[in-house]
Amino acid sequence: MTPTLMSGNRPISLYFHIPFCTKKCPYCHFYVIPNHPKHRQQLLEGLLLEWEQVRAQIKDFEIVSVYFGGGTPTLFGVEPIKTLLEKIDISNNCEVTIEANPEDVNIELMKGYKDAGINRVSIGVQSLQNDSLEVLERTHNAQKAIDAIWDTHSAGISNISIDLMYELPDQTPESFEKTLKQLNTLPITHLSLYNLTIEPHTAFYKRPLKLPSAEDNFTMHNMAINQIEKSGLKRYEISAFARLGFESRHNVGYWTARPFFGLGPSAFSYFNGKRFRNCANINKYLDALRQDLSPVDFEETLPYPQNVHELLAVELRLLRGVDLKSFNLPEKTKTVLNQLVESNYLVRDGQNLKLSEKGLLFYDTVASEII
Ligand code: SF4
Repeated sequence: MTPTLMSGNRPISLYFHIPFCTKKCPYCHFYVIPNHPKHRQQLLEGLLLEWEQVRAQIKDFEIVSVYFGGGTPTLFGVEPIKTLLEKIDISNNCEVTIEANPEDVNIELMKGYKDAGINRVSIGVQSLQNDSLEVLERTHNAQKAIDAIWDTHSAGISNISIDLMYELPDQTPESFEKTLKQLNTLPITHLSLYNLTIEPHTAFYKRPLKLPSAEDNFTMHNMAINQIEKSGLKRYEISAFARLGFESRHNVGYWTARPFFGLGPSAFSYFNGKRFRNCANINKYLDALRQDLSPVDFEETLPYPQNVHELLAVELRLLRGVDLKSFNLPEKTKTVLNQLVESNYLVRDGQNLKLSEKGLLFYDTVASEII
């Protein structure tokens, strides 16, 4: 660790984008590149240079979470992650997460990450049914996913999150139930639930797929919520569940407008009310940093009141709701919120405003009305 850098207590988060994958999944719309030694070298050099630019701007902040996402960050290797974490002054209770794909996980590797300072692992399980994993063209099977969770646990990392997907091609409520029924046998503290979205520019977009009906999707959504909660994880955000005290500190930052710096090609940041993104090209990213230039190629500052509308809509994703006192809302927006309360999308209790059962199901409607 370097000598203490952050003296103030304004919280901030760091995100490192590690864009390597062994192959591109047919539904993926992220910036990913092959895991070549040259790319790994370029990325480490770039991240170290970018960190020097970022650290100067956050010297009065306390880093409360660090997140290595991707891509597949575990393909980067233990040493580069250790090198980066040694440069950053983080407090003892900082949440330090790495995403992992099941096929890469073994006890030795996870012990290495633990020794490097990782204290939370997010594993891309996606499904515990082999036929669904094959449809998604994942390179792991259900047993490997289960082994990866236990190997991480055996390596001494007990804060383990998994990702699960539904609304998959050929998936039925019966097959999804088999995945859900296994959750209470696994040592997990957190779960993120995603429905498959077919984005343009993905392989799935061009394929004829047999997707479940709207009715089956609704059934699977409800089954998931019931079964995940039965396994001891409480829903605290529209698509996130956790054991008490294991809510993702990093993700809660995104939902509550905590500033964060995203480092690496294509990474987003939010700082001083401005959103910006690094260029999505490793060569251009590194060229800019070698010349001590910013790698940012997009930035925007939303004007009032759109900025407040967006922050409000995002924070409403948390089931605890929002404190209306902390938002400077124009009269017109207050009227919209009252209408959403009257139509049973939102529930108001004094200054607390939160999604109702109906609002949880139709969050997109609520968000578009507010924004
Ligand atoms: S592992 Fe994740 S980031 Fe990599 S290609 Fe698949 S979906 Fe995209």
